[in-house]
Amino acid sequence: MARFNLSHSFNPCEAEPQSGIIFPKKWLDAKENGDWDDWRWQFRNRIQDIESLKTLVCLSREEENAFKASGKNLPFAITPYYMSLLSPCNPHDPIRKTVIPRIEEFSTSQHEMVDPCGEDKNSPVPGLVHRYPDRVLFLINDTCSVYCRYCTRSRVVGSGELRPEFEHIYEYLKQHTEIRDVLISGGDPLVFSDDRLERIISRLRQIPHIEIIRLGSKIPVVMPQRITDDLVNMLKRYHPFFMSIHFLHPDEITPEVKAACNKLADAGIPTFSQTVLLKGVNDNPQVMKTLMQKLLTLRVRPYYIYQCDPVQGTSHFRTSVKTGLNIMQQLRGHTTGYAIPTYVIDAPGGGGKIPVSPDYVLSEDGQKVTLKNYAGEVFEYYFD
Ligand SMILES: *Cc1c(COP(=O)(O)O)cnc(C)c1O
Repeated sequence: MARFNLSHSFNPCEAEPQSGIIFPKKWLDAKENGDWDDWRWQFRNRIQDIESLKTLVCLSREEENAFKASGKNLPFAITPYYMSLLSPCNPHDPIRKTVIPRIEEFSTSQHEMVDPCGEDKNSPVPGLVHRYPDRVLFLINDTCSVYCRYCTRSRVVGSGELRPEFEHIYEYLKQHTEIRDVLISGGDPLVFSDDRLERIISRLRQIPHIEIIRLGSKIPVVMPQRITDDLVNMLKRYHPFFMSIHFLHPDEITPEVKAACNKLADAGIPTFSQTVLLKGVNDNPQVMKTLMQKLLTLRVRPYYIYQCDPVQGTSHFRTSVKTGLNIMQQLRGHTTGYAIPTYVIDAPGGGGKIPVSPDYVLSEDGQKVTLKNYAGEVFEYYFD
């Protein structure tokens, strides 16, 4: 990618179609003096308004109109680092589509909902979702470093609804001895400082029946500078500690992200990926396969592919389930088994994650099953 220093009069709409983001002087200075590698600089210097955005990218009408519309409150923010990965000229660029709002966000189709996974009704105390028998989702904040336009939790993100008062949550966890697994999420938990995170994690570790702690984040991908030695040295004191990381596209796998994932793995933190299937972003078997294979090179184990939740204003991202099944079929047998995640639909209304899989059993009777392998060849297996 060509990255030049240009004057204020630079117009991204006149950039070469294939060029990358042209760095403003402030970013070049930050690269020079090391601020670029400091996550606090990345966070403070996020692009959060249309004026700053327009100095970097040439907005399409659909994108520009999104900033004029009102009624939806999912905030807008992109870190300079993540911004540097997207195309300034092409509104169809996969990464760009997921972070720059489009007017389609403001239309709602018939089956879309505010809270598609029914989290609110499974919430015994504010900030906690207890849906499954032995594990809970603990929402510690409503802030992210970058806002995904297809966010499943857009109803809470940026709303100020989640208060950082967790005593009632610790109390609930202490009383419910069946809970052996706490998944910390938000927002993005890694926008908190190391100290603030440690105060929460150490409280969880004091509860004897909590066996494992997990944290879900997109920050290793959108602000990899956050994964510092100090952070991983803190986290590894609370093992067994795991991390689920939200990856979307092979273009996200950069040297910076590789360094972040290596730090986590070297600290003994097992990392798993979660990917949302999105139209025009990653709804292609070759793109998905490349992503999953590259994740293994970072020691990240592909975990889930999610069918896009029917959250309000996301219909432009939604694919058919057939699209997802076809991707799964083109992974299984065609590449390393470790590279194959589980494709799930989070059942609308709060049914939890339901796996959906291509069918390899063609028929079954009293003595045998007829099976199809990855290449479409048919086999019989007798169990008598
Ligand atoms: C996804 C999710 C979990 C964790 O599910 P696993 O399949 O164990 O990874 C827990 N609670 C809620 C509410 C969830 O949505």
